[in-house]
Amino acid sequence: MEWSCMTEPVARMVFCDFDGTITVEDTFVKVCRHFAADVVDRMLKDIFKGTLTLKEGIRTIVESIPSSRYEEMLDFVNGTPLRPGLDSFLDFLEEKQVPFVVISGGLRSLVERQLGDIAKRASAIYAADVDTAGPCLHVISEFEEGTELVNKKKIMDTYSFTDAVALGDGVTDHGMAMAASLVFARRHLADYLDKQNRPYVRWNDFHDVREALVRRWM
Ligand SMILES: [Mg+2]
Repeated sequence: MEWSCMTEPVARMVFCDFDGTITVEDTFVKVCRHFAADVVDRMLKDIFKGTLTLKEGIRTIVESIPSSRYEEMLDFVNGTPLRPGLDSFLDFLEEKQVPFVVISGGLRSLVERQLGDIAKRASAIYAADVDTAGPCLHVISEFEEGTELVNKKKIMDTYSFTDAVALGDGVTDHGMAMAASLVFARRHLADYLDKQNRPYVRWNDFHDVREALVRRWM
């Protein structure tokens, strides 16, 4: 379905993180650890010391990986377990005509490989891209801003909506969660929202999200 041709703002939208939210585990971290283990260790020390931003760390890690290993990286994420209930949640959103936008702080090609046929059901997928023409991977990110490689709030700002639902679990989901009218949070994002005194819904799988929205959207 093409949403961009609509002249009226879409009333409701769902913005969804990818790693650890759509997937059970953070696959991007696993890829980085598998293909650039020593660089990851070095970068993590600097990130914890505060001398390096997460964005700089991710860029350095990905750009240390030879382009010759790109296909192997894509194959590495084959068969990634997705959180249960995604298909029926997407059925529900289609029935309600609510766009589902995936925003990942990782790499688009990895996200698309893991989503498989489900990728077509998202109204858009945002993530960083990689150029494989040089000896090592090169990261290209249209929505890079501040300390973020993919600034999720900046992507939300490109849409008109009256009611945004955000789903996330991590540190890069803070801005997106604070800009949403309803948040489904897990792990770190739930702890952060507790500290901010912001209400959110705890969830484990997409069946939980669907049930909560069925009640709210009656
Ligand atoms: Mg995440």
